[in-house]
Amino acid sequence: MTFEDLGLSADLLATVAREGYTEPTPVQSAAIPLVLAGRDVLAAAQTGTGKTAAFVLPILERLRNTANAGFSPARHPVRVLILTPTRELAMQIGAAVKTYGRGIPLRSTVVYGGTRIDPEIKILWSGVEILVATPGRLLDHVGQRTVNLSQVEIFVLDEGDRMLDMGFVPDVRKIAALLPAQRQTLLFSATFSDDVRRMAKEFQHDPEIVEVAARNSIADNLTQVLYPVDQARKADLLVHLIRRDSMEQVLVFTRSKIGASRLASYLDRRGVSTSAIHGDRSQSERTRALEAFKGRFVKVLVATDVASRGLDIEDLPYVVNFELPHEPQDYIHRIGRTGRAGASGTAISLVSPDEVEQLRGVQRLLRKAIPCAIVEEFLPDPEREAAPVARFGGGRGSRYSSGRAQPAGVGLQTAAAR
Ligand code: AMP
Repeated sequence: MTFEDLGLSADLLATVAREGYTEPTPVQSAAIPLVLAGRDVLAAAQTGTGKTAAFVLPILERLRNTANAGFSPARHPVRVLILTPTRELAMQIGAAVKTYGRGIPLRSTVVYGGTRIDPEIKILWSGVEILVATPGRLLDHVGQRTVNLSQVEIFVLDEGDRMLDMGFVPDVRKIAALLPAQRQTLLFSATFSDDVRRMAKEFQHDPEIVEVAARNSIADNLTQVLYPVDQARKADLLVHLIRRDSMEQVLVFTRSKIGASRLASYLDRRGVSTSAIHGDRSQSERTRALEAFKGRFVKVLVATDVASRGLDIEDLPYVVNFELPHEPQDYIHRIGRTGRAGASGTAISLVSPDEVEQLRGVQRLLRKAIPCAIVEEFLPDPEREAAPVARFGGGRGSRYSSGRAQPAGVGLQTAAAR
């Protein structure tokens, strides 16, 4: 399948070529013709699959024939509304719209919370056809009557499962009520849970379903490894690994915002340059942290799941799970930041005995055990590990009788893999 086969016109094909895309990704092959045909589409595709282009390209194609260079704001009503849960995603989609839409006289902008609203109002008043927004900030604009959604033709709900997780559905409902009932609605979600299907029922009309192979079968070029480690010694192990393997550009995930802050300052104190990105940081702080990381001014970026969602950092050599996520699916999201597009990558998980349950969840989803590596001096104390292992393994504690020859960490892994 080529982009030519998908029904995009010459200038969009030129754009795609300029971006260096030689062939469409699976979600693009499946979704682009459907979107062009005006169908509602419910697509299971996560970040990294090329899903942004899968909706932005055909949307531009559909709008371009009626695009105009007129000056009056009235000639530029909002025709496309793209809702996405986080500011970072909003910025990335906004950037994609600008990139792919170069040369087409369609105006676009991005609105999201955490920044001043006045500059957004100015742009909205001048007229934009494509509006990318986070739900809360869009409702602020609705409340101030700075946006009119009555002429929206295409409504995109990006990261539907995240919208649910973040409690945005009531906001989405309020927004959808302001849109024409006659419209095209595209819903993208990493997973198809029952809740996502319910969302589709509520907001879509007879959608075509697009399901591309989830990245559960993780790319061959991605190496996964877990280090059993004492909870209290994780940060030291991380410093050890970064130094031992001369790691650069390491994206580290923590479960909590406070954990992210603490780890970032600890790493900095230990001489590993680090910045952090999480929900308690202002927009400008987040942007600065991300730029510092992308520009390789810092080695490590510590992030929480929500804040990292959809960060488009390509070719990352290392992703570290400082803690395993609560939701196994998030493991896939996290490690999807490395080994993209053929580049090789390593996903490292630091797993302490209290995380056996999360590890089981992840390995069940992967349908395989993650290979285990040992750094002897950081291994958890077998006494403390015995408890959770025994809970799953029922008396497998006897493995420890052989002492160090059968390291505790191996037990942690085998118990969890069953
Ligand atoms: P997304 O899933 O939308 O976050 O896209 C992930 C990355 O894939 C982005 O950096 C895109 O620039 C890139 N990308 C999108 N489509 C293609 C394609 N057909 N070939 C190669 N890279 C692509």
